[in-house]
Amino acid sequence: MKTGKIAKTFRVDSGKHFRLRDFDPSDTGHWKSKEHAEQTLMGGVTRTSELQDKLYAQSNWALLLIFQAMDAAGKDGAIKHVMSGVNPQGCQVYSFKAPSELELQHDFLWRTTRDLPQRGHIGIFNRSYYEEVLVVRVHPEILKSQKTPPVLVGKKIWDERFEDIRSFERHMARSGTVIRKFFLNVSKKEQKARFLARLEEPEKNWKFSASDVRERACWDDYQDAYEDMIRNTASEHAPWYVVPADNKWFTRLVISTVIVDTLESLDLSYPKVDDAKRKELEAAKKSLLAKK
Ligand code: ATP
Ligand code: MG
Repeated sequence: MKTGKIAKTFRVDSGKHFRLRDFDPSDTGHWKSKEHAEQTLMGGVTRTSELQDKLYAQSNWALLLIFQAMDAAGKDGAIKHVMSGVNPQGCQVYSFKAPSELELQHDFLWRTTRDLPQRGHIGIFNRSYYEEVLVVRVHPEILKSQKTPPVLVGKKIWDERFEDIRSFERHMARSGTVIRKFFLNVSKKEQKARFLARLEEPEKNWKFSASDVRERACWDDYQDAYEDMIRNTASEHAPWYVVPADNKWFTRLVISTVIVDTLESLDLSYPKVDDAKRKELEAAKKSLLAKK
C-alpha cells in the first residue's frame, strides 16, 4: 500500500453500505513496523509544515480536523504528532468535555461553533459535536438533563441530530472550511491492554480514570452508535476516516497522509504580488541598501 492509497482505503464518504466490522483495528497495510514507517512519518510532518505555511499565507481555506474515539484509542498522541510539524500560530486544539452550565443554555452546536478555525488556520477538535450522537445516545439520561423543550425531544431525535450535523457541515464546506473526521478504531482487546498499562505503570497512572472502565462496559452500544454516526454523516465534503488504532504508529501515518493529501488537493500557493506591491518592495529594498 503506497501512502497515496492509504487515505482512500480508510475513507468513508458515503455511509450507505458502511459496516464497522469491515474495518480491522490492527491493520497496518504493508508496513511491518514503526521503524519501517519512520521515514514516511517524518516526511509527512515536513510536508504538512510546508503546506500549512501556504494555507496561512493564502488565508482563504480553513481546515477542521475532528477526532473521535473510545478512551485510550490514542487521540492525544495522534494530535501531538499532527501538531509536531505545524506553526502553532496557525493551529489551535480544542478539547470538548461534558458541557458546562453556560453551554447547556445553548443548542448543541454552539460551543464548537465558537472554536471553528478562521481562514488560513487548522482547527483540531479533540471530541466535538459528535458527542451528541455518541455519549448522549448511549446515556439517554444526559439528553434529559439538557434544557431542550421536552416537546422537541421525540423519537426522531437522532435522525434530526444527524440532519442538523449534515446541514452544518455542508454550510461550512460551502464557506471554505475543509472538514476531515477521524474515528480512531481501537479493538476492545487493545483498549484493555492500554488500561492495564495505565494502572500498572506509575508514569501512566495519571491517564487512568475510573469512568473509562464504566464506559467500556457500554462497548457494544458505543460501537453501534459510531457505526450509525458514520452511516449518517459521511459525505464527500466531510468524509470519515476509520483509522486502525491498535498500532499507534500506523494511526499517525494514516492521519498524517490524509492531512497532506487534503492540503495538496487545495492547490495552495503564496499570494501573488501585484504591480503596486512590487513597486513598494523595490522602493523598500532601494532605501534599505542606500542607508547604512
Ligand atoms: P483523556 O484522553 O484525557 O481521557 P478525554 O477526551 O477522554 O481525554 P475526559 O475528561 O476523560 O477527556 O472525558 C471527557 C468526557 O466528556 C467524555 O467521557 C465525553 O464522552 C464527555 N463529553 C463530551 N462531550 C459531551 C457532551 N456533549 N455531553 C456529555 N458528555 C460529553
Ligand atoms: Mg477519558
